Amino acid sequence: VRRAADRVVEGASGGRSVEPREVVARARRAFDTGRTKPRAWRVAQLKALRVLLVDHEADIAAALHADLGKSANEAWVTETGFLVREIDHTLRHLRAWTAPRRVPVPLSLAPGRARVVREPLGVVLVIAPWNYPLQLCLAPLVGALAAGNAVVLKPSELAPATSALLARLVPKHLDPEAVHVVEGAVPETTELLAERFDHVFYTGNGTVGRIVLEAAAVHLTPVTLELGGKSPAYVADDADLPVTARRLVWGKFTNAGQTCVAPDYVMASAETLEKLEPLLVEAIRETFGDDPAASSDYGRIVDARHFERLTGLIDAERVVSGGRSDAATRYIEPTLVEVADPDDPDEAVMRDEIFGPVLPLVPVADLDAAIALVNRRDKPLALYVFTPSTVVRERFVRETSSGAIGFNIPLAHLAVPELPFGGVGASGMGAYHGERSVELFSHAKAVLTMPTRPDTTAWIRPPFTRFKEQVI
Ligand code: NAD
Repeated sequence: VRRAADRVVEGASGGRSVEPREVVARARRAFDTGRTKPRAWRVAQLKALRVLLVDHEADIAAALHADLGKSANEAWVTETGFLVREIDHTLRHLRAWTAPRRVPVPLSLAPGRARVVREPLGVVLVIAPWNYPLQLCLAPLVGALAAGNAVVLKPSELAPATSALLARLVPKHLDPEAVHVVEGAVPETTELLAERFDHVFYTGNGTVGRIVLEAAAVHLTPVTLELGGKSPAYVADDADLPVTARRLVWGKFTNAGQTCVAPDYVMASAETLEKLEPLLVEAIRETFGDDPAASSDYGRIVDARHFERLTGLIDAERVVSGGRSDAATRYIEPTLVEVADPDDPDEAVMRDEIFGPVLPLVPVADLDAAIALVNRRDKPLALYVFTPSTVVRERFVRETSSGAIGFNIPLAHLAVPELPFGGVGASGMGAYHGERSVELFSHAKAVLTMPTRPDTTAWIRPPFTRFKEQVI
């Protein structure tokens, strides 16, 4: 954690230390000039962000490797390339998404004309976490810029290399008056949250989510909370087990399990678990080799605190496979553990979101028991079901609630830009990506225009008899 005195706040100053309050004031002044509103500005910013990503792909990969041990390929697929696709999709549709939309008026208001005009909210604060420190900082930025806002970005201090890179590159590539990066930890974020924003977009854990929501309430600022929680996976008896095992391993151990939508635990009948276990072990070997520590595709735990937390969850007696770790390099082997009773309060792996490479295997009696287990717990950010049966799939859609459902594939729903990405209940509020981002960061203003002649308002003036006659 950096001392407040050491902080560097980059913006128009290009490196001069500026107080968070002053940064927000600058962003506000930029927005108030109206410069962020024209589509030309928005398009230029999105294109400039694309250039930043493509021109600095190697610098970004190096930062993500320093922070999380991500390989360059993983960095491209899950962060940089993901953002480039989101930008391209947004540029392709921006005109249609932001055009005023005519809507019909009721007969009593004819010949009035009504339309919905999307206007930017103003100054948006984006508070990002460390696990996908580039993607989760810049994907909201894409939407906020596309909607015509000024933006203050607060990257995570737990991914310091990525945070520093963003602070260096963003003011160079984007409009330095309207887009700012404030680096720092709790003190800086607290100072920022004391300011008035027009929207706060927070990604991270629920405890801080509550702090954000409280701070925003003071200014009546709308908030999006992209939170986490335990995302379950259910493997039905009729699932294609070898493919399921491969996809579960990919979904769970990407970024060493530090993915908000990673399958947190796997439920299946005892018989299916018995068949699935060796296939999971084989899939881990196939993906990361005999020694995952030597695989360039296997990441590391972000810091010592999370390393301690995760190794504390691994009970050697319950390990099915893996379990080794190395504190010096913050390496934790892909680990499968068995769970006897998911409702046992002593079952540590079933308490909180794991957020690391430990996969509990949970036996359930049947489909009903799996659905009941999901429904007994907080509404998850994602739920995964592996089965060819449409009947079973539809039961999960109808009988459970979650931010998203992936059938036969984890994680991938967030790469469909037409799908809203967000949680429900404890996993968050609000959703973004694609058009949903533009909706989120703009206000749909109702505009009604009435000609004065002929003056048709007799319908709606007292004594209202004509209106009543017309409606009834
Ligand atoms: P984190 O510790 O990096 O915190 C997120 C942000 O909150 C950081 O910018 C940090 O500076 C700020 N912060 C921390 N403490 C604060 C405080 N007291 N006051 C104000 N700001 C504060 O990230 P994290 O919370 O450890 O992230 C992991 C969690 O985020 C997991 O629960 C995960 O599931 C969730 N997550 C959700 C999504 C999603 O899209 N829904 C994506 C990634 C992670």
